[in-house]
Amino acid sequence: MQDERSSRWTRGQFSRRDLAILFACLCFILVILAPYLLRQRELARINACQNNLRGIGELFFEHANTDPNSRLCIGAPHRVLDGPLDQAGWVADLVTLQPNPLPTLKCALNPATGLQTYNDVVRLDGANTAKRLRQRGFDTNYTASWFLARMAPRIAITPDTTTDDWANDGVPYFDAPVTHSPPAMHPGNCRGGGLTLKSLETSHVSMAVVPLLADSNAINAKSMAEAAWSLNPGPANVGPTGIVHMRADAPLKAQSDAEVQGRLATATQKNGLFLQDTRGWGAPHVDRGDRVANVLMADGSVQVFRDANCDGFLNPGFITEDGDGTNVPNTGFQDNAAELSPAHMFNGVFLQSPQPKGHF
Ligand SMILES: [Zn+2]
Repeated sequence: MQDERSSRWTRGQFSRRDLAILFACLCFILVILAPYLLRQRELARINACQNNLRGIGELFFEHANTDPNSRLCIGAPHRVLDGPLDQAGWVADLVTLQPNPLPTLKCALNPATGLQTYNDVVRLDGANTAKRLRQRGFDTNYTASWFLARMAPRIAITPDTTTDDWANDGVPYFDAPVTHSPPAMHPGNCRGGGLTLKSLETSHVSMAVVPLLADSNAINAKSMAEAAWSLNPGPANVGPTGIVHMRADAPLKAQSDAEVQGRLATATQKNGLFLQDTRGWGAPHVDRGDRVANVLMADGSVQVFRDANCDGFLNPGFITEDGDGTNVPNTGFQDNAAELSPAHMFNGVFLQSPQPKGHF
């Protein structure tokens, strides 16, 4: 029997039974290998995006080394707020450096395939200009952190008439002379012109936890429409109607105290604290079944953050209900889970003390 089968193998003659066994073996091997192959494909896609971000990070530092003010970049690619896309914003800064080769500025797997501000270009400069800009490489689907594009809010100091521990130092508040919604998104209301290397190197916050750039979210995250945010809109807290961005004249003493004392867990209108509104970032990648986002940090590393509840956003700690258990509408966040924990990402307001004498 054995000899007969061996001779059939050598002669290339197989019975139906032989073929069925062979087919079953192949299926078994494929079933065993499938999770591994899928995992490898996921990792390859995530790695390609991470390599993009690392390359961009290297150019940020190159820009800082050649810029008189040590700026990593000069703002966000936003036609209305920052200017023409081939002159203003981090994309223009990097393309102008003329690196060879220019790192890929787009994540190939993000369904948010471009920035919403291209609609502004079409409206202000025409469709042909928008098309040419994209052809010349002024195109991305990565969204800047508010720190990268705006660095810090404009701060004014009022005389402090109270008797607390800030007496004689004055009380800082958000000085926002330009009318815009949200106020801190406008460069005229910030110290901006882009984050400086000097401010990072002298900050009380580790560069390893300062976010610079991440996978974009579509502005309507649920619809996965292609238009994405140019930058995150800045500090905000939760009020009865949902997320409320930091308004002009907002007092910031409590914020400074909370950041110094490391108790910036959440931000509500009741406690007067602020966290970064990070809804401009999405989680387009999949890793072990979780939606994840790649984030370039200020130390040049790329970190992976998980959208644990699959609501399409990365929550820095905003609550979705008030202290009485009443749901707060319109935050977009599904629950109170902090997916961007303070240990891994700083989402406060101040990389530098707002106090003239320094309290950090
Ligand atoms: Zn990506």
